[in-house]
This record gives sequence, C-alpha cells and structure tokens, in this order.
Amino acid sequence: MSERTLAIIKPDAVKKHVIGDIIHRYEQAGLRPVAMRMMVMAKQTAEGFYAVHKSRPFFDSLCTFMSSGPVVVLILSGDNAIKKNRDLMGATDPAKADKGTIRAAHGANIEFNAVHGSDSPETAKQEIAYFFPEMDVVR
Ligand code: ADP
Ligand code: MG
Repeated sequence: MSERTLAIIKPDAVKKHVIGDIIHRYEQAGLRPVAMRMMVMAKQTAEGFYAVHKSRPFFDSLCTFMSSGPVVVLILSGDNAIKKNRDLMGATDPAKADKGTIRAAHGANIEFNAVHGSDSPETAKQEIAYFFPEMDVVR
C-alpha cells in the first residue's frame, strides 16, 4: 500500500554536498519525492519537531544542530515508505548502521547522522503536517 513519510536531509549532509546522492538513493529505492522544501529551521521549529525528545540529555544540542544551517525537508511516497526509508537510513548511530545505508555513508556520529525519517504512520502524519500544507503536496 502506498504511504507517505517525512524525511529531512540534515545540516551536516547539506554541508557535505550530498543532497543529490541522498535523493538519488530515495528514488532508486522507489521512494518518490512529492513535496520538497529547503529551509533553515528556527531553533524553536526544531524544538517543536523533536518535542518527544524534550527530556533527553541531547535535546538542546540536537535542536542547535538542526537549526545550524540549511536542511531539505521532503515527503516521500511509495509502497511501505516509512519502513523502506528507515531501512535505507540505517541505525541512528552511523557506526552501527548497515553497510550501504545513508547513515553508514554520510553520518559522522550518533548526533550528526545525515538524515531523519518518520518512524510510524502516526509520526509520519504529524511530521508531514508540521512542515507542509496539503495543497503543497504533488499528486
Ligand atoms: P532516529 O533519528 O534514528 O529516529 P531518535 O529519534 O532516537 O533517532 O533521535 C533523534 C535524533 O536525535 C537522532 O537522529 C540524532 O540526531 C539525535 N540523537 C539520538 N540519540 C542521541 C544521542 N545519544 N546523543 C546525541 N544525539 C542523539
Ligand atoms: Mg526518531
């Protein structure tokens, strides 16, 4: 069944000039971008996005990182898109990510790990609505 997921190419990956490589991997895997936005998040925007992690010790550092430079926010559409994108990304810690995954290729450490991907249908829905009005999504 076709579903949508939210992906973010994080500031570390944008600085490494691998936007193209990452989008190529999505497309090769059958994940079609249906909305795309380049932006610099206000710190408050990052804090709202990562609100579930508010009590974690890395929260402030994570939000500083996510607002430190341009990101590319995308909606990806495809069969099983949420799980497919998580598989493509690899584990949160790039050192533990499978070979061939985006994080193994481009992540530096558990914080600067190149990409975000929604982890469930509920969070995908929430995260998509956080960045995109429905009218900006291509059919
Ligand atoms: P994922 O992005 O794989 O879903 P989480 O939702 O657990 O991982 O964490 C959100 C983001 O917070 C991670 O992608 C990473 O950038 C950062 N992060 C997670 N765990 C740590 C940690 N132990 N130390 C620093 N940053 C972390
Ligand atoms: Mg997560």
